Amino acid sequence: MKSISLVIPCFNEEETIPLFFKETEKIKNKLRGYQLNYWFINDGSTDKTLKVLRNLNSSQAQRVHYVSFSKNFGKEAAIYAGLREAAGDYIAVMDVDLQDPPEFLPTMLAGIEDEGYDMVGARRVDRKGEPKIRSFFANCFYKFINKLSNTQFVTGARDYRLMTRQVVNAVIQISEYNRFSKGIFSWVGFNTKYIEYSNRDRSAGTTNWSFWQLVRYSIEGIVNFSEKPLAIASYVGLTSFVLSILAIIFIVVRKIIFGGSAYGWASLISVILMIGGIQLLCLGILGKYIGNIYLETKKRPIYLIKEKDNQTNSTIK
Ligand code: UDP
Ligand code: MG
Repeated sequence: MKSISLVIPCFNEEETIPLFFKETEKIKNKLRGYQLNYWFINDGSTDKTLKVLRNLNSSQAQRVHYVSFSKNFGKEAAIYAGLREAAGDYIAVMDVDLQDPPEFLPTMLAGIEDEGYDMVGARRVDRKGEPKIRSFFANCFYKFINKLSNTQFVTGARDYRLMTRQVVNAVIQISEYNRFSKGIFSWVGFNTKYIEYSNRDRSAGTTNWSFWQLVRYSIEGIVNFSEKPLAIASYVGLTSFVLSILAIIFIVVRKIIFGGSAYGWASLISVILMIGGIQLLCLGILGKYIGNIYLETKKRPIYLIKEKDNQTNSTIK
């Protein structure tokens, strides 16, 4: 029997897991005879998530699996672990808070089987229920990163997607430490279709992301999928160099025509501050890239597993 596996990262989701399981089970019979499997990744939760997963596994050992990390490694690491662990012909990545509607799975499956796509994702066409300022910055981010990067970033695309085994194998070949799934799923190529839908609120619990975490995540995305900021730093340097040449010519000409000296202390200070600022900014950009190189060269594991269900240990992939 062919199977579909769901990879579900969970961080402090004791409330949402039972709701998620109940809702997703409802669409089981619409999946064309495919067996539906679950691979929950407990990303170092500090609540009862692991207990909830153990219980679910003991009642549904054939289909519900879990992998538990030794600490919180982040959603990206959890997705990577899930894709590596999960067996199955088709694999979907899903959030546990029901913001990724399970009722799309049959449509996604049809997209792959009938229309011949390799990957079918979901894309939010609005962000209702989200703070306005957050949506604004999210939109700016997509515009900005698409200008800077050669990899295409689809506005509002979620990590929620159903993939063929071939796509999954491609994604897990990318074993970089600084992971940015939105970019990785696009970078691997293959034919992708997006199902559009209107934003949904979390079923329970609260989001794990603060505004500043999202800002950092965005910077990570840009640094991982574009080298243009480095080029921009050089252009800024070049521009200020050209401007300073013009200023020198201006000062020399003024001296020749009008004579006098010791003009412009205030402007001198502002120029020094400006140049200093530009230099620090460019150093910062450079530093970010070097920092990422540093992390990559250490080759630390992306995640560490503390516990797995028995079935997961013995599954042949
Ligand atoms: N998540 C995770 N590790 C983390 C943070 C989040 O595995 O460090 C999971 C979380 O349990 C959920 C998904 O990632 O299943 C999305 O998280 P959340 O709903 O907080 O993010 P949002 O939907 O607001 O982007
Ligand atoms: Mg969510």
